[in-house]
Amino acid sequence: MENKPITSNFIRNIVIQDLESGKHKEIITRFPPEPNGYLHIGHAKSIVLNFELADDFNGKTHLRFDDTNPTKEDTEYVESIKEDVQWLGFDWEELFFASDYFEEMYNRAVLLIKKGVAYVDDLSAEEIREHRGTLTQPGKESPYRNRSIEENLDLFDRMRKGEFKDGEKVLRAKIDMSSPNMNMRDPVIYRIVHASHHNTGDKWCIYPMYDFAHPLEDAIEGITHSICTMEFEDHRPLYDWAVRECEMESQPQQIEFARLNMTNTVMSKRKLKQLVDEGVVDGWDDPRMPTISGLRRKGYTPKAIRNFCREIGVSKNQSIVDEQMLEHFIRQDLNEIAPRTMAVLRPLKVVITNYPEGQVEMLDAENNPDDPSMGVRKIPFSREIYIEQEDFMENPPAKYFRLFPGNEVRLKHAYFIKCNDVIKDADGNVVELHCTYDPETKSGTGFTGRKVKGTIHWVDASNSTPAEFRLYEPLILDEDGEDDKHFLEQINPNSLEVLHGFVEDNMKDVEAHYKFQFFRHGYFNVDPKHNSNDNLVFNRIVSLKSSFKL
Ligand code: ATP
Ligand code: MG
Repeated sequence: MENKPITSNFIRNIVIQDLESGKHKEIITRFPPEPNGYLHIGHAKSIVLNFELADDFNGKTHLRFDDTNPTKEDTEYVESIKEDVQWLGFDWEELFFASDYFEEMYNRAVLLIKKGVAYVDDLSAEEIREHRGTLTQPGKESPYRNRSIEENLDLFDRMRKGEFKDGEKVLRAKIDMSSPNMNMRDPVIYRIVHASHHNTGDKWCIYPMYDFAHPLEDAIEGITHSICTMEFEDHRPLYDWAVRECEMESQPQQIEFARLNMTNTVMSKRKLKQLVDEGVVDGWDDPRMPTISGLRRKGYTPKAIRNFCREIGVSKNQSIVDEQMLEHFIRQDLNEIAPRTMAVLRPLKVVITNYPEGQVEMLDAENNPDDPSMGVRKIPFSREIYIEQEDFMENPPAKYFRLFPGNEVRLKHAYFIKCNDVIKDADGNVVELHCTYDPETKSGTGFTGRKVKGTIHWVDASNSTPAEFRLYEPLILDEDGEDDKHFLEQINPNSLEVLHGFVEDNMKDVEAHYKFQFFRHGYFNVDPKHNSNDNLVFNRIVSLKSSFKL
């Protein structure tokens, strides 16, 4: 992996202190996704943070599936998450499923009942909500709060045995109905859900709630620093309560940081799933999605994503990162590694009337002028070529230096050509140009006779390969990057443009995920889903230029 910059942040400082004070000999972090969707760029922030933090101090990181919600979870998600974490360049020390701890969690819940700090409640979800009170008013105790320990043990056992229907009973922690922290007002810690679980099948019909399960999972695994996002700050007292009251041997410390928000996208699995389910996008890996699989399919490299995650840093302040910052890092990476080639996205045929019919010559083209070690390729040139429609104007404005009647331009890697005739169809559309070339002006021969102001790209018409190009714009028009309710109304109707043109012939056998810089157009990736030998498909990863500055 690339040399990573070591930047200090408040979590790192806590770790350093804990190691120096001897509180911990080794640090163990975890990345704990719920397998209810595909990972997104926000998760990448958490992955890079957890794995690199542990790695810097010779510690360990666990990958743990927080799978306590059977109706939302699926093995498809488990597999995609493993693939994405590995693709990002990280290897977990151990792989765990929270569902493997169900028996232990159950036993700890029984312990709470025995200690008199948990009870079975018959109130409905609605009634529990009504009893909870508000920020200014204390809650009301449930009439079932003071059941005997024996009765609670019996009812909890019968909940497990499946004697009750969903929602008929819950297990609640008995803490404080007048606590200023709403999370401490006797939170529900177990609920009844008669549903098959992707890992435990039909073994269980009661499932622990996140706020009870998560601290136990961390403690069972000996996690030292349990890093989560700011929404859980108010849950920390409950986290600590669960670890303490369940008498866990190991005491993990929960530390919160600000989640990643980005402009022009949504970043919650629930919303991303909605986009998939409603067919707004072509699956979780649609290149417009902020998912890891979408970014991969678009053409992002793991290195660019890691560098981005390091640069945004870690703090407690909520902020919205400009999407262009992510683009900055992929440009930086591809600028070094992507070979330069030519592609015409919106073709216009040019006939070079003074070029011998039937002749094809092979011209030298550097694969990267900044890096001679990337070599030189041969590209064919003959009497008919394609140029970009937008590189010709019949009536150009001032300072238009590309092709127009009577004007001369340089063809990249080839010759100067001059436009003499414009051929139109019955409707007046330009369909072909007739030009002449000057053999003296061949690229690489040091011709200095005269200068032209424009250089345009092209591909040979008879020796080129048809290709499809997919250009992307932001999926969401809203720039505030916040997960607001109306995101479906903010969908950009022009987020995908599909074009059909041509690439250099030597690209006809490219495989999925090859990345190129198409001269003047930007960086492109061979699409892994739709590409085939008879149908080349390129996704534009990013254009070449941006006003964005780090
Ligand atoms: P979502 O709302 O997208 O489903 P989540 O937080 O519910 O996200 P989990 O699968 O529970 O998703 O998250 C796994 C880990 O990734 C958690 O530790 C969580 O804090 C972290 N994480 C999720 N989203 C972000 C984000 N936008 N920025 C940073 N970390 C995130
Ligand atoms: Mg979640």
